[in-house]
Amino acid sequence: MDLSVAFLGTGGPVPTARRNTASVLIVRGGEKLMFDCGEGTQRQMRQSVGLVPVDQLYLTHFHLDHCLGLPGLLKTYDLGDRSEPMQIFGPAGLEQLLSDWHPMIGKLGFHLEVEEVAGGDVIRHDGYEVEVFKVEHSARNAVGYALLEDDRPGRFDPDVARELGVQEGPDFKRLQDGETVSGSKGDVRPDQVMDEDRMGRAIVLTGDTGPCQSTVIAAADADLLIHDSSFMTEDIERAAETGHSTSVQAAEVAEQANVKMLALVHISSRYHVGASLDEARAIKENTVAPRDFDSIVVPFPERGEPELIRNGAGKTTDLAEKQAADDGPPDPEGFDGSDG
Ligand SMILES: [Zn+2]
Ligand SMILES: [Zn+2]
Repeated sequence: MDLSVAFLGTGGPVPTARRNTASVLIVRGGEKLMFDCGEGTQRQMRQSVGLVPVDQLYLTHFHLDHCLGLPGLLKTYDLGDRSEPMQIFGPAGLEQLLSDWHPMIGKLGFHLEVEEVAGGDVIRHDGYEVEVFKVEHSARNAVGYALLEDDRPGRFDPDVARELGVQEGPDFKRLQDGETVSGSKGDVRPDQVMDEDRMGRAIVLTGDTGPCQSTVIAAADADLLIHDSSFMTEDIERAAETGHSTSVQAAEVAEQANVKMLALVHISSRYHVGASLDEARAIKENTVAPRDFDSIVVPFPERGEPELIRNGAGKTTDLAEKQAADDGPPDPEGFDGSDG
């Protein structure tokens, strides 16, 4: 199953011409999970992944640069006659926030499932779960999220199964499904013909945070850690005062957690990104600083390493391809905005 990350906004609290406020879209098979939704996220989507229906939206905290895009996105879905339900997760205060926004958004034609979460919570989905962990930021209750795929069964060895006298066909499938079957010399158990379970993939996002142990634990051995990198070492005190990290601190967390790849986000325009990256790479070699509209593909470990694709966000969804083929289409049907 394909797993990729589209970077819609990689900048700090003030949008610049090159970097918008925070938003990341994870596409796993046909499912779309958005993490944070800063102001302007809709247009960032329009220019890359398309206005795809997000299935689950996770907010890390309620600072404007992480959530101001949400009311507009909900309204757009409504104008587009969305019918599929949508789940929104966020720390305590999420329900209040949405009710405060109600006069702006109005009644929606689709079901919104709202759930407040806190560190330690686990949100179960089909084939994976999203773990919530507490981070250290100036906003109360700020959290990070870890998308953890279920373990996959180990590789099945048909030669061994044949040697044990198992009939090729339905019994092969039963073994792979964990059932014991009969062979020519007695019962054959799955563990005789299957390797050990293989770990699922893991992507971890911190949102805004200082360096903290809870991230190290949540991100242990993850394929990809997307971490706050608001400052450079020269401003380490400012980072501590505001609940943010330097690129070096992000790299130290990534190194301690033994992640495969570190992606720095929440990048401020005050620094040269190359300098920030150099500082981080001295500690964690496999560090990248995605730009808006870049993507990172995360293959199963036996198929390769996570890879940064420049300008790859548009290739992560079908809708993006369709829209790109149309070469800058007018609003799709229903998106005429007449009552918005
Ligand atoms: Zn922020
Ligand atoms: Zn913040």
